[in-house]
Amino acid sequence: MTSEHTFTLKQERRLVTEIPGPRSRELQRRRTGAVPPGVGSVLPVYVAEAGGGVVVDVDGNSLIDFGSGIAVTNVGNANPRVVERVREQAGRFTHTCFMVTPYESYVAVCEALNRITPGDHDKRSFLVNSGAEAVENAVKIARYATGRPAVVVFDHGYHGRTLLTMTLTAKNMPYKHGFGPYAPEVYRMPLAYPYRWPTGPDECGPQAAAQAIDQITKQIGAENVAAVVIEPIQGEGGFIVPGRGFLPALAEFCRANGILFIADEVQTGFARTGDLFACEHEGVVPDLVATAKGIAGGLPLAAVTGRADIMDKVHPGGLGGTYGGNPLACEAALAVLEEIERGDLTARARRIGEIMLPRLRALAERHPSIGDVRGRGAMTAIELVRPGTKDPDPGLTSEVARRCHEAGLLVLTAGTYGNVLRFLPPLVIPEHLLNEGLEILERAFDAA
Ligand SMILES: *Cc1c(COP(=O)(O)O)cnc(C)c1O
Repeated sequence: MTSEHTFTLKQERRLVTEIPGPRSRELQRRRTGAVPPGVGSVLPVYVAEAGGGVVVDVDGNSLIDFGSGIAVTNVGNANPRVVERVREQAGRFTHTCFMVTPYESYVAVCEALNRITPGDHDKRSFLVNSGAEAVENAVKIARYATGRPAVVVFDHGYHGRTLLTMTLTAKNMPYKHGFGPYAPEVYRMPLAYPYRWPTGPDECGPQAAAQAIDQITKQIGAENVAAVVIEPIQGEGGFIVPGRGFLPALAEFCRANGILFIADEVQTGFARTGDLFACEHEGVVPDLVATAKGIAGGLPLAAVTGRADIMDKVHPGGLGGTYGGNPLACEAALAVLEEIERGDLTARARRIGEIMLPRLRALAERHPSIGDVRGRGAMTAIELVRPGTKDPDPGLTSEVARRCHEAGLLVLTAGTYGNVLRFLPPLVIPEHLLNEGLEILERAFDAA
């Protein structure tokens, strides 16, 4: 797996202090006096360098990275080609504001997005700074184009932290608690959650779609709905892959009723799931797509891509922002897209899934606390429950995560019940680190 990639950082796990080490702990003390506790950190080791499949901290520890900064550094952290293009751009100009005096790289990123997102219809794109901003703009455009107010979202969904996207997000703690009142005209529907569907995973997709469609029709009225906003695989909600047939049935219902289908591909996008975009798996073609995270190797960039007839409706000046499509971020995005193609990273994501899923299933055989193994490509997860039940076990989940962290494996948790361990390695991770990370996870379960 490593053959086409050269890494400047040694691709090894190396522990030279306890985790976090003394310099990290010192920085954590400083932080406490400067940063409010509302901003959390999964693992307070302070980073010195990162690349390939490792994160190196200020104490000299080298950790295996199963997080990619939350599905962002798909092409590897500080990917040399990304760095080079950003460096060159920084020497030319760092900002003009595309709304003041435009530049080519912004247009090139939009052309690329129009080409690679699902569907071969005529498209337009524009650029913003964060996933939340992209989702929020997609909703603005959908309301404008349809003249309708209502927005439909789903149980366990996550769409960001601004007023509107926090409202679209399902989970109260920590995302919404105390931050209301929320934005109006947002309606939540059941999601096809195979593991927890009462009649089992096989029936889940069609039954959940029928329920959602019935509720939309009866409770809102399809003619009042501007858009359905959905993650094709849920991220923060716990990597829930909707039951087969759910997404196509919803997309079909939307098409028949003039409702715009907005795919939030912020976490699933850019080769992560083994397709460039997760919607492709069931052949769903969204009207609008929100992208961010994996788009630019960590430089702040996000995009809305949509049908030209919808996007072109909005009046001149109705869309934009000071930093949207920053030239450094655009150069990074162009390099990321080249790297995905050059390294055939969709195939690599599939390969990562082929390695991880069987081992996670074997682990679940030995540990009845693992109730479900799921995901696609390099976006996989396990859901932890009390053995013999489906009762969530968030305590065990954080204990396993802690043991992994202490052993030098960076893993993230997720899920409405906080009982999901999710795995998002960089797509360029060398295979020996992938296997070593899995061994650490297995040992953490044996010890917990
Ligand atoms: C992370 C995320 C967002 C929000 O993106 P930010 O860049 O943090 O604003 C929206 N939707 C999904 C699915 C995400 O995973």
